[in-house]
This record gives sequence, structure tokens and C-alpha cells, in this order.
Amino acid sequence: MTQIYNFSAGPAVLPKEVLQQAADDMLDWHGSGMSVMEMSHRGPEFISIYHDAVRDLRQLLAIPANYRILFLQGGGLGENAIIPMNLLGRAAVQPATIDFVHTGSWSGKSIKEAARYANVNVAASSEPGHFTSVPPQQYWKLTRDAAYLHICTNETIDGVEYNFVPELPGGTPIVADMSSHILSRTVDVSKYGVIFAGAQKNIGPAGLTVVIVREDLLGHALDICPSAFNWKIVDEHESMFNTPPTYSIYIAGLVFAHLLRQGGVAAMEKRNIEKARLLYAALDVDDFYQNRVAPDCRSRMNVPFYLRDETLNEKFLAGAKARGLLQLKGHKSVGGMRASIYNAMPIEGVQALVDYLNEFAGR
Ligand SMILES: *Cc1c(COP(=O)(O)O)cnc(C)c1O
Repeated sequence: MTQIYNFSAGPAVLPKEVLQQAADDMLDWHGSGMSVMEMSHRGPEFISIYHDAVRDLRQLLAIPANYRILFLQGGGLGENAIIPMNLLGRAAVQPATIDFVHTGSWSGKSIKEAARYANVNVAASSEPGHFTSVPPQQYWKLTRDAAYLHICTNETIDGVEYNFVPELPGGTPIVADMSSHILSRTVDVSKYGVIFAGAQKNIGPAGLTVVIVREDLLGHALDICPSAFNWKIVDEHESMFNTPPTYSIYIAGLVFAHLLRQGGVAAMEKRNIEKARLLYAALDVDDFYQNRVAPDCRSRMNVPFYLRDETLNEKFLAGAKARGLLQLKGHKSVGGMRASIYNAMPIEGVQALVDYLNEFAGR
């Protein structure tokens, strides 16, 4: 097999060891005679897979005991509707207001969807600066008695990542979309009310959405909330109110165990800092390439960049492909290039990209 490096933003690269394990287990999981895909979600085999995955995720993120881990479907965008339907019932003021900080494409989508359920207050926006920074909290115009504050802590398309955790007065819960950087850095879960992530960036296959929710935020769903998306009901059934995405949960579990063997999230963070440093340094040598994000808000996971001479874009991508450097084309909404360097991207892959960047720039 030829060596390639996959820089896709998602679905994205998975650890080779995990894919090999899945291949070994494919026809016969642990002597059961069955593929995981064929198992009843209520049978002892899958129940053990589920319990191991929950236990390992709790350990990886040091999730406190008063937080529940839910495995849902519907993706990150599904959560944009599922969250208001679960949280608005507890708002002290009706009609409720949800605060948002608008830092890019994904928080923009969340704002649009939430506006169907409540008043939306954009407390701060980096849109005037073309989403190249996170507005410092001192400039946020928060609502008193907001139902919650929603932020996207890593904007996958714009390449902007929070380097701080907001501190809110009055106990307003913070809801964080961590889809594209969960497990890439240590996080103090206790600072958040809800953390959610589509699996296909840093966890496993598409089809699974991980939701980490503080216990007291369960049980406030609106009547219109579908039962299968009602966090309290899902929690009472250990994420098996309806058939969960069993195979995606199994692969996620393999990834969690793999991360623990690698030294956990702190070890990942160290590697991710090094990978990002290497790549940004190559982009910053001169203005042949440009990353336009404020240095202290640059994402360690998603690195968008532009060629100074954009007529060279196709040539750049063709040369990258010929060297096994795949999926570097930027998101269609912003153009240019983007390298996603999630946990499973080895430093050798980043180095190969850096070598190509230098070669293409004639350095
Ligand atoms: C990919 C992504 C999503 C969307 O997830 P879907 O599973 O496609 O709904 C949401 N938020 C962020 C930050 C993402 O990177």
C-alpha cells in the first residue's frame, strides 16, 4: 500500500492501529463468531463495548462524576436543534434568550438553527475581521438570565481556536461545540454545562455524536423534543433508548483505548502543539503562503492557508497529490487550502507537508 497522509477536515484520518484492530475483529469479535455490526445492542458483548468506551472517555477527559456521557445521532448540526429543545425548558425568563459568540462558519450555523427556538443574542462577533480571531470576553455583551451561552471552541473552517475558557457570572451554563478539537488538548469539563462533538473529526466514524452534559441540565426538555433526542430519556437508557450507532461506538472505543495507551490527552496535546508549530512556521517564512488568523487564536487542528498567487492553486494540489498528501483543498466557502492535523495525523505527515511547502515555494 502506498503511504499517504490524509489532511481531510472530516470524516478524517483514524489511527492505523485502530483500523488494523477493526480489521482483525471484523468477522469474529473476541471469539463471539459475530462482527460487531451484527450484534444486538442489548447483548452482553455490545454492552461491554459500550461500558468500556464510556469508562475510557471519562478517564481521558477527567469527566467529573456529575456529568453524563451520551452517545447520540444527528451530528453536530443535529445538536444545534437538540440543545435548545433540551435546555430551554429551564430558562428563568420566557421567551428565552440564547447568547452566542460568532467566530466562524460553525457558530454561524448554530445561531441560525437556534433562532427557530428562542431569541438569539450575538454577544460578540469576529465577522467584521473575517473570522480571524476570538473576541476577548471583556467585549462580550451578554444577556442577563440567558438560557445558556453557546460557543464553538474550534472553528473547523476558519481555523480559529479558543485559548481561554469564558467565566460567566450567575451560573449561566456554557455549551461548547468541540467537534473538531475534542481530545486534542486537556479541558476542564467542570467549566461547561454541555460539551458536544460529532465523532468524525477526532473520535471515530461519522454517525455518532458525543454529548457530555452536567446532570442538573437533564430533565428540562421542551414537549416538542423528540424522545430519541431527549437527553434525560437517552441517559436513563444508557444511550440505548433506540438503536445506537453501534459500530461507530465500537470504533470510538478503540480510539479511546488507543489514546490512553499513547499517554492520554496531555500527551496528545504535547504532540499537537509540536505539529502545529512545525506547520505554522513553514507558512510564516515569507508571504508565499498566508494564514490570516491572529497568532494567539490559531487552531492546532485545522490550518487554513492561501497561496499568494492563487493561480497556482491547482498546480499546488496536483503536486501534493502526487506526493501522497491528500485532501488539502480548502472549504468551498473560503477557498484556498486547509490542512487538518488531528490526533491521528503523525508528525511524519506534517513534516512531509512542510517539505512539500518548502519545495513548492522554491526554498
Ligand atoms: C464538522 C462540524 C460540525 C458538523 O457536524 P455534522 O456531523 O456534519 O452535523 C459541527 N461543528 C463543528 C465545529 C464541526 O467541525
